[in-house]
Amino acid sequence: MNEPNELEQFRSTTAQWIEQHYPQQLRSSPGAEGQDPRQLKSHEQDWLTRLAERGFLAPSWPREYGGAGLSSEQVRILNQELRSALVRSPPISAGLSLLGPVLLEHGTAEQKARHLPRIAHNTVSWCQGYSEPGSGSDLASLSTRAELVGDEFVVNGQKIWTSHADSADWMFCLVRTDRDASKHEGISFLLIDMTTPGISVAPIRLISGPSAFCQTFFDDVRVPKDNIMGQLGQGWTLAKQLLQHERQALGSIGRGDARRALTLPELAIQEMGLNTQQQLDDPTIRDRVAQCELDSLALRLTMSRSADEARAGRGSPHIASMFKLYGSELTNRRHELMISIRGADGIGWEGEGFTPAALRTTRQWLRAKGNSIEGGSNEIQRNVIAKRVLDLPE
Ligand SMILES: Cc1cc2nc3c(=O)[nH]c(=O)nc-3n(C[C@H](O)[C@H](O)[C@H](O)COP(=O)(O)OP(=O)(O)OC[C@H]3O[C@@H](n4cnc5c(N)ncnc54)[C@H](O)[C@@H]3O)c2cc1C
Repeated sequence: MNEPNELEQFRSTTAQWIEQHYPQQLRSSPGAEGQDPRQLKSHEQDWLTRLAERGFLAPSWPREYGGAGLSSEQVRILNQELRSALVRSPPISAGLSLLGPVLLEHGTAEQKARHLPRIAHNTVSWCQGYSEPGSGSDLASLSTRAELVGDEFVVNGQKIWTSHADSADWMFCLVRTDRDASKHEGISFLLIDMTTPGISVAPIRLISGPSAFCQTFFDDVRVPKDNIMGQLGQGWTLAKQLLQHERQALGSIGRGDARRALTLPELAIQEMGLNTQQQLDDPTIRDRVAQCELDSLALRLTMSRSADEARAGRGSPHIASMFKLYGSELTNRRHELMISIRGADGIGWEGEGFTPAALRTTRQWLRAKGNSIEGGSNEIQRNVIAKRVLDLPE
């Protein structure tokens, strides 16, 4: 527990640090709207580097692993200060948001020392090798095999929907190490270097053209035995725990933290203008914007309350499924509204006549559709909530 004056001191040094280090070019969203996307990307990259140097990409992780060693109260203050400075939040990454917390808890000392600092410094990227053709919602039926031969696992099989497998340096991967055990028992959790011979990656083209999706094939891929995380055949427990972090992270998008461009109210003001009472002119849109903002605030407060409960050892870890379900629906609602506000400009796909910002709105709207599927579909979240949170009968 920090003393109150210690926390106030932390708040003021953090606010100063943000003020000094947040790139000018990212500050005002309306200004950022007109910027060259490549320049924007490079400013965002600078900002990520500054956050990483300060340990702020993984603020609660110990300093020895590249974090800032902050207490939960300090992390909360950091987030409040970032939000009040209208800072763009870094994108959710598989290393930081999904693997990192599980590695901290279950990794060996050697695995933690090797991987965590590079994740916290954003110098190595990870992808998630969970889904397979035929094993998505029923993930525990997965059949990619890993056979222990001497000091190595020999991996054969196929993963699908592996986001960013074509650019990731490492994959955390679920493999079947015992075909005779029950389906949940025979799974292990492996950390695989993507440059290992025998791995091939094929991008999946979608109707919208190139995408981050890939298929990943394993053909006699030799993985050192020490790259297993947790016990042999006990990977399912880790896999589920990681999914809870993923669902929590996906839920947080619904809080409106993942600020990449204009916020909803800023967009509405820019496109529709204010009346003499300084209100949005169109009352219907005004109501919908207000409702969306209130719902985001309610989600943020509920997630924060739930984090407090978790720290006090209360509450269910499966609550992450509620956040994922509600957050992804809210994100979709926000994007639908943004499209309505942009009017005909909101349905541009490419070509002349649309501003880059309008095209970004369209693409973000389409991308948000996937939020209801990734990390486990929303139907599956409803099943988890019914069974594990509400304790309803089968
Ligand atoms: C944007 C995006 C990114 C992704 N990134 C990754 C990644 O990086 N790595 C990775 O491993 N996977 C990734 N996935 C895959 C994702 O985890 C799966 O798509 C998801 O788990 C659903 O599995 P499926 O596609 O096989 O659908 P299926 O399991 O075949 O489900 C089809 C439909 O049936 C419904 N359904 C299935 N079972 C039940 C049930 N018991 N009760 C009620 N309804 C049910 C589902 O809700 C769904 O609507 C990603 C998916 C998306 C959309």
